[in-house]
Amino acid sequence: MQTETIAIHAGNLTHSTTGDVTPPISLSTTFFRDENGGYPGGHMYSRVSNPNRSALEKVMADLEKGTDACAFSSGNTAGMTVFQALPPGSHIIAPDDMYWGFKKQLQSIFEGILTIDFIDLTQPDLIEEHIKSNTAMIWVETPSNPLLKITDLTVVSAIAKKHKLTLACDSTFASPCFQNPILLGADIVMHSSTKYIGGHSDVLGGILVTAVQDELWSRIRNIQQIGGAVPSPFDCFLLLRSIKTLPYRMKGHAENAMALAKYLSVHPKIEAVYYPGLPSHAQHEIATKQMSGFAGMLSILVKGDARKVVNQVRLFAQATSLGGVESLIEHRASVEGPDTKTPQNLIRISVGLEHIDDIIADIEQALG
Ligand SMILES: *Cc1c(COP(=O)(O)O)cnc(C)c1O
Repeated sequence: MQTETIAIHAGNLTHSTTGDVTPPISLSTTFFRDENGGYPGGHMYSRVSNPNRSALEKVMADLEKGTDACAFSSGNTAGMTVFQALPPGSHIIAPDDMYWGFKKQLQSIFEGILTIDFIDLTQPDLIEEHIKSNTAMIWVETPSNPLLKITDLTVVSAIAKKHKLTLACDSTFASPCFQNPILLGADIVMHSSTKYIGGHSDVLGGILVTAVQDELWSRIRNIQQIGGAVPSPFDCFLLLRSIKTLPYRMKGHAENAMALAKYLSVHPKIEAVYYPGLPSHAQHEIATKQMSGFAGMLSILVKGDARKVVNQVRLFAQATSLGGVESLIEHRASVEGPDTKTPQNLIRISVGLEHIDDIIADIEQALG
C-alpha cells in the first residue's frame, strides 16, 4: 500500500469489543491475566507496552519500511536510547552540525562513556579517515539544521556496511513521507515526532524505527521498557491521529516552502536561501535522488539585522521548534548561544500551512 493509505490504516489495530472504527485511548496501566498466567490481550503493564503505543509503533514501522519501532516521550530520549545501547567505550562519527540537543548529550551525559568525532558528512571521504577500531556507529542527520545540508545516504551506508558499522539517521526534517533511510541502507531511523509527525505543536515525542531486529535493537527495546521514558496513551493517540493527515500536510508544507524559497531567492534584501528544493542548493542533486519532496524547512541569510526582521512578523510566531501547521520564525544564533557557528544574520523558517499569499505578505512586511 501507498503512504497515504498506510498513514490512515496501519495504526487502526482494533482491540475493543465495542466496534470502534478509531481505537479508543487505553488508560489502564495494567492488564488482566488468564488462568495460566498469560496475557490474552497481549499487554501486561503500560510501561512495557500499551495498545495505543503499539499502534503508533506499527504505523511508524510501516511508514519507514522498517520491521519494528520504539516510541519515546521525546525525540531527545529516542536519540539518547541509541547512544545508551552502544557498548561503553564506543566511538561515534556524527555530523558537525548535529542537532544541538544531541551534541550536548554526547558532550555532557556521555562524556567518558563514548567518544565522538563531529565531521562534515557532506564530505564522505572524511568518514573513512575517522573510523577507528572501536567505531560503532555513524549518525547522520539529513536534511540538517539549520543550513539544510544533505548527506548522501547511499554513499554513507556503503561505508558503514564496508566497516560493519551501524548507520543511524535523524530524518526529522524530511518526515517519513519524503525520505525512507532504511530503503537507502540505514539500520535505524530516528524522528522527533514533536515536529511534522505531531504537526500541531501540542505533543512531545520521539520514534526509532529499525531495519532488522538484531542485538542492538533488543538493547534499545530493553532500555525503552526498563528505562521507561515512554509516551502516554494520550500522546500516542494524538500522534496516531496526526499521522492520518501527515502525507497531505507534508505536501502542503513542501508546496508553500518551495514557493517561499523561490520568492526569497530573488529578493533584494536576502543574501542567501538554503532550501534543498532549489537548484542553487549545494546538494540539490543528492536531495532529488533520495527525497521525494523537500519538506517545509528553510533558512535565509538577510542583509542587515536578522533580529529586527524576526521581531517584525505578525502572522508568523517567533518561536523555536518546527513542523506545525502554523509558520514559525527563529533567530537561531541567539537560541544556540555564544559558541554557535550559525551566522548571526541567519533566520530559520518552519513554513506552515497558511495560504502562501499571507505567508509571503508577512515576510515581505517584516523585511521592509
Ligand atoms: C527537535 C529535534 C530533535 C529533538 O526532539 P525533541 O522532541 O525536541 O526532544 C532531534 N532532532 C531534530 C532534527 C529535531 O528537530
